Amino acid sequence: MCDISRRGFLAGGAAFLSLAAESEILAGPMPAAMAEAAKADLLAPDVYFHEGQVSDTADAVCNNGWIVFEDYVLVIDANFPAGAKLIIGKIRALTDKPIRFAFDTHHHGDHAYGNQVFVENGGVPVAHTGVIAEMKQYETGYYGNEPGRWEAAMKDRADLRTTKLKPPSVLFSKDLIFDDGKHRVELMHLGVSHTHGDAVAWLPKEGILFTGDMCVNGPYNFVGDGEVGKWVATLDAARKLGAKIVCPGHGPRSVGTVLDDQQVFFNALRQQVGTTMTDGTPEETKARIESIRAMLKSDAQIARFISDRGTGSDDGFPSQVAKVYEELSGKKLAALIHEPHLARHVHARSHGLAPA
Ligand SMILES: [Zn+2]
Repeated sequence: MCDISRRGFLAGGAAFLSLAAESEILAGPMPAAMAEAAKADLLAPDVYFHEGQVSDTADAVCNNGWIVFEDYVLVIDANFPAGAKLIIGKIRALTDKPIRFAFDTHHHGDHAYGNQVFVENGGVPVAHTGVIAEMKQYETGYYGNEPGRWEAAMKDRADLRTTKLKPPSVLFSKDLIFDDGKHRVELMHLGVSHTHGDAVAWLPKEGILFTGDMCVNGPYNFVGDGEVGKWVATLDAARKLGAKIVCPGHGPRSVGTVLDDQQVFFNALRQQVGTTMTDGTPEETKARIESIRAMLKSDAQIARFISDRGTGSDDGFPSQVAKVYEELSGKKLAALIHEPHLARHVHARSHGLAPA
């Protein structure tokens, strides 16, 4: 089947079709390489989702989305450089329109380190102004302060050694709207959550929300760079959008209730830490972590957000407790004083930045 007619069909395709499967329906099996390149979910006409792999060795670690406008393509999240190349290949299998914009939902490496790859392919990185502030605070591949996360990540990911940190150069303080009459995408900073510079991509016509790591769908919450209390309120703003399809930063795509579940998890965590821990000694507090974990895990609505005990540095739960304890009590959880560092390592590992 020729490319143009395939694209014509895709433009009118229904939600939740796998392109690979769809192409088989249309034209029989595609060559393996092409089928692989086209593996992405068509959520609505011209709107695609690709699920990354939360693994140390994956090319594409974070989830991506892209919207094919009349004259250009807007990509949601730049991923790591290897992920950026993978995504560009998938987009190229669908359209030859220029990939003009790469929107970083936040500054973390698995969402923004691929910016330079998009620039070399004609794209411009776009983000909330908070992303620049946090890149200056944490990253040094561009800003030249003390070695930071970029340099640390370079040791562990070969793809970073072939590129450089490229901060976004199109910035917005509240929102930025892409609208060509057919498609509309609203990039919006809804408040502090996973970081201080998170923004989402909202497609009001289709009811699709790309959340970045403000919402995940699995045990992937990293809270070290954000504020859990404000995060709960920011999730309220996201819920009010009334999304029908929610594409989280990590984990499978879902529906609007995943925002509720994410919020219920944080509220339950805050409530448990607040009522059982803040009046105890650090030793008593630490001893209560596992009982809180067990209690939260028994709630089917939120169990998937809680990591398992004994999974080494992949166990982010103690650091989530420590962060909430610190927010609620104003005190460091002495018994877990090392955890914020460990937590960052956990996040780095789970986002493909560091070896086990
Ligand atoms: Zn992140």
